Amino acid sequence: MNQNNIIIITAPSGAGKTTIVHYLLQQYPEKLAFSISATTRQPREGETDGRDYYFLSEETFRQKIQQNEFVEWEMVYEGKYYGTLQSELERIRETGRIPVLDIDVKGALHIQRRFPGSSVSLFIEPPSVEELRKRLESRGTETPESLQARVNKASYELSFRNHFDHIIVNNNLATACREAEEIITGLF
Ligand code: 5GP
Repeated sequence: MNQNNIIIITAPSGAGKTTIVHYLLQQYPEKLAFSISATTRQPREGETDGRDYYFLSEETFRQKIQQNEFVEWEMVYEGKYYGTLQSELERIRETGRIPVLDIDVKGALHIQRRFPGSSVSLFIEPPSVEELRKRLESRGTETPESLQARVNKASYELSFRNHFDHIIVNNNLATACREAEEIITGLF
């Protein structure tokens, strides 16, 4: 795999994507680097600017859109922007590692289109929409309305599964991590 490559990991919300990304980064810190996205959402407890995200004001984010600084950006949730900065991909390439992007399905489709032949995409699929609903319910973070909205969004996102290079069905997190690892190590 050459340095122009990008690893994209995408999934409907609640499919276990972030856990898999963390696992891969932990296993291969010399080969892979997390692509830190920019966002206008507020930092959550324990999150650090420049490590988890680049937390930007809406004004700064919009300026960067105008100045073409993003390789992709999306309004992932109502009113909140998320995007991958060109400068971030360059920063990682300078370290000789491969950027790993944890992004939503639309953003992933954009990156694939923008870097045809030099990106590898993994779609993490929940076992079923019903199972996803149960996982989101057991997190206890959703109201009935926001839960339904996430389930609807997930069903829509699932319809894009065949646009990605690899599909990993997350029936079991440890197995899904190993499957992702096999795909990624095949690229080194
Ligand atoms: P959270 O707010 O929970 O950190 O992330 C919400 C969603 O935004 C997740 O699905 C995450 O993968 C996605 N996301 C994070 N960064 C980016 C980005 O740079 N671009 C896009 N399109 N989505 C992103």
